[in-house]
Amino acid sequence: MPSDTITDLDQLITKVRTYNPEADVDLVCRAYAFSAKAHEGQTRRSGEPYLQHPLAVAGVLTSLRSDVPAIVAGLLHDTLEDTLTTPEVLEQEFGKDIARLVDGVTKIGKIQFRNHEEKQAENFRKMVLSMADDIRVILVKLADRLHNMRTLEHLHEAKRLQIAQETLEIYAPLANRLGIGWIKNELEDLCLKYLKPDVYAALKLRVAKRDEDRQQYIEEVVRIVKQALAEADLKGEVQGRPKHLYGIYQKMERQSISFEEVYDLTAIRIITDTKMNCYALLGLIHSLWRPVPGRFKDYIAIPKSNLYQSLHTTVVGPKGEHVEFQIRTEEMHRLAEYGIAAHWKYKERGQVDDKDGKVFSWLRQFVEWHQDLTDNRQFMDSVKLDLFHDVVYVFTPKGMVKEMPLGSTPVDFAYAIHTEVGDRCVGAKVNGKIVPLRHQLTSGDAVEILTSPTQVPHKDWLKFARTPRAKAKIKHWLKVEEQKRSLEIGRRLLEREFRKHDMAPAQMLKSEQLLGVAHELGFETVDEMSVAVGYGRLSTGQVMTRLAPAVPQEGKAEVVEELHPSRPQVGKPDEKGVKVKGGRDLLMQLSRCCNPVPGDRIMGYITRGRGLTIHSVGCPNLEALDYDKERLIEVDWDMATSSTYPVKVSVLAVDKTGVLANVSSAISGAEANISRAEITTREDRKAVLDFVVEVGNTAHLGRVLKAIEGVEGVITARRIRAWQAR
Ligand code: MN
Repeated sequence: MPSDTITDLDQLITKVRTYNPEADVDLVCRAYAFSAKAHEGQTRRSGEPYLQHPLAVAGVLTSLRSDVPAIVAGLLHDTLEDTLTTPEVLEQEFGKDIARLVDGVTKIGKIQFRNHEEKQAENFRKMVLSMADDIRVILVKLADRLHNMRTLEHLHEAKRLQIAQETLEIYAPLANRLGIGWIKNELEDLCLKYLKPDVYAALKLRVAKRDEDRQQYIEEVVRIVKQALAEADLKGEVQGRPKHLYGIYQKMERQSISFEEVYDLTAIRIITDTKMNCYALLGLIHSLWRPVPGRFKDYIAIPKSNLYQSLHTTVVGPKGEHVEFQIRTEEMHRLAEYGIAAHWKYKERGQVDDKDGKVFSWLRQFVEWHQDLTDNRQFMDSVKLDLFHDVVYVFTPKGMVKEMPLGSTPVDFAYAIHTEVGDRCVGAKVNGKIVPLRHQLTSGDAVEILTSPTQVPHKDWLKFARTPRAKAKIKHWLKVEEQKRSLEIGRRLLEREFRKHDMAPAQMLKSEQLLGVAHELGFETVDEMSVAVGYGRLSTGQVMTRLAPAVPQEGKAEVVEELHPSRPQVGKPDEKGVKVKGGRDLLMQLSRCCNPVPGDRIMGYITRGRGLTIHSVGCPNLEALDYDKERLIEVDWDMATSSTYPVKVSVLAVDKTGVLANVSSAISGAEANISRAEITTREDRKAVLDFVVEVGNTAHLGRVLKAIEGVEGVITARRIRAWQAR
């Protein structure tokens, strides 16, 4: 198949015109001039002007009978990566469509393929496809790779091996998937040449030698076939077949057989006009020579997954030697060589006509995991590749590729790696930049999860977690935590009640008496009963009545008050850094509505269901609780502890790239951790950056705010409490 390299503009134009007489030649010329200017002064390793490369790539694309935008993209494909050209300039000069194609090719070129497991190679192929929203992006990339492989000898050895390996594992299979037989074969042979030079050289020599010996024999077979065709008045062009060295090598390796056994076949191809005549020709061949049982394959009735069609048969030819025949129509031959590109028909203005119902159907096999894609028409509507509209492929720091549902966030990714990582994640770096946990990942992203040993899953994560696994893990953690918390609260409430009645709490909890009460109330254990008390499903009064009927009970019904929901803090209650006056030992948590920090004036409130909640003085939630003054207790910060406390900080900044990263680093520079970050873009080109920052006290918070306000582009930075209007 085509292996001639295009070396100047005239050749290129001539070739485009052979299959697309209406092509917008002017556009091609402009792209050539643009590329020439952009790459001016650059040379390739071989020493030739760089421009030869994009020109050759465009040439390969004409061999695929590509449309003008694809050829133009071929000419421009390296301008974004290797020159000062920007996507904006390309769009201005050549329009959105072409700018998008070039951008797509550039993005794929940036992916680093580092993992050589077979499954990873498959994921990587999917990633490449998912990043290309247009099939032409893949075609340009394949053309690029083909020319790079053709000129690989100019690179130093390590680079050669790396590129050849990547080509063999990723790009040759992609060409195969798209049904472009000649590119796949040429890529594979070139890979063999660089990866196994000895094998390649030996094979090449043996094939040449064998063909020489065989020449007469082949001519004899061809003569007999041609004569039979003429006698039967059947049309058909008889040809020998190009040698695919890698195919021979693969057969020898896989089946552990010798070169002679693999290459003992004389291979002949007959191309005819109609499908009917394919079968007629088959009958003719079988009447001339005896077919070898088990070697007949009808790929016309049952095409391969990439839509390849042909009849294959092997017969015992003259002198008892095996001859393999491939019989196909002109159209089937075109399909076998050009694959997906064979379906492109050219309308007047060089538009791609893809109404052909079969165009992308071979890709069905390729997306077999994609079970819900029942309506093929979905992706036939345009040349756009929508195959992966609901998955993204992202890199782990070790270079593994993970498939995630579309819309997945760093939280999903973290749980996909390990539950521990998920439970502890505080943020992520995507392509080296810090992003908030709710950030949506896109294909090709390199994702690194940031964890903190003090982090725990948040209920809010459920709002943006996308994978069932992450959701289940978060829910599980919350449930277990709630259970633990309820047990602790229940115990403490019971203990308090025991103390009130002059009973020794520790002994009571272990007593047979209390176990008896638990059984009476339908619980297996005292702990189970305590959990019910903690949840508020059972009141301490109900327990006390059964325990000591004689003891007078307080009149009030035990109702669990629903305070503003507070999230659990990490660590034991006594690690909160809060001292309760009078030394009462209660389950404590810092209220989330006001997020108090050491330095703030605080009050404690004893809830029935959740122990002691610490609020800032001034918090409206606390004021609303005023009716029950006896539950308010004075508390104070224990300045000796070195815990950190979450504070909400809101930053107003100009909407500019890099601001989030700079603010983030200012925060870390002030020795505070970010546990959450969120960006909202406003219409007035300003951005609001909301953070939850972990600080030691109000003085520390002051330093953090000052550091943020020092970042260029930041307008204000302030602490936010739930009750304060923005
Ligand atoms: Mn290139």
